[in-house]
Amino acid sequence: MSQPHILLVEDEPHIASGLVYNLEAEGYRVTHANRGENALEFLWQEPFELVVLDLMLPGIDGIEVCRQIRKHDPKLPVLMLTARSEDKDRIEGLSAGADDYLTKPFNLDEFLLRVKGMLQRSSWYRPQAAPEKYYRFGDNEINLQEYRAQTRNGEITLTEHEARLLRTFFQHEGEILSRSELLEAAWGVNPNTETRTLDNFIVRLRKYFEEKPSSPVHFQTVRGRGYRFIKGETETE
Ligand code: CA
Repeated sequence: MSQPHILLVEDEPHIASGLVYNLEAEGYRVTHANRGENALEFLWQEPFELVVLDLMLPGIDGIEVCRQIRKHDPKLPVLMLTARSEDKDRIEGLSAGADDYLTKPFNLDEFLLRVKGMLQRSSWYRPQAAPEKYYRFGDNEINLQEYRAQTRNGEITLTEHEARLLRTFFQHEGEILSRSELLEAAWGVNPNTETRTLDNFIVRLRKYFEEKPSSPVHFQTVRGRGYRFIKGETETE
């Protein structure tokens, strides 16, 4: 079995380095983010099996990071760390979607047991098979892990933002997504990016993937509301 990959979001260097050291000693692979913004960046780039999330962070705090995680992955286990023990904060964390919490200072052994237990529980309902490498629609075959796509016009390399937009569309197939939701998903929270940039990206996706970019089937404009991705009919296996 491969090593579970844990995202540790903690801004205090000495706590972070201690937790990284001990988690790695237990055989986990650990990626450390010291700010909420970085955590969200990492979450888009790689799959994780667990997030250990400090509540108090500079910039985007743990509550907001947790909300963002839940928007995109309802099942990714989140263990929240809080320096505060008041019920209010605990309830806020849990209602933002954290699965469990520990109040600092905590016992290291208890922390490691909690991590182990959460990973075991989540593996019960996570499919054991590797996630599907390719996403297919129309004449296109997309590999988001490698940023490559086969289209009717040949192979193309996707940019980071194209890949993020596609992932968001695929995860929300058939749903109407507002421009601000799409901007947030591809460019991060509080984007300074103008909506026109997003519209340009949609034009580009249509050029890549639509048979007739001027009358799109897959990347549809929903007037006044945003965009919607329709997978459409696919050939039988
Ligand atoms: Ca902190």
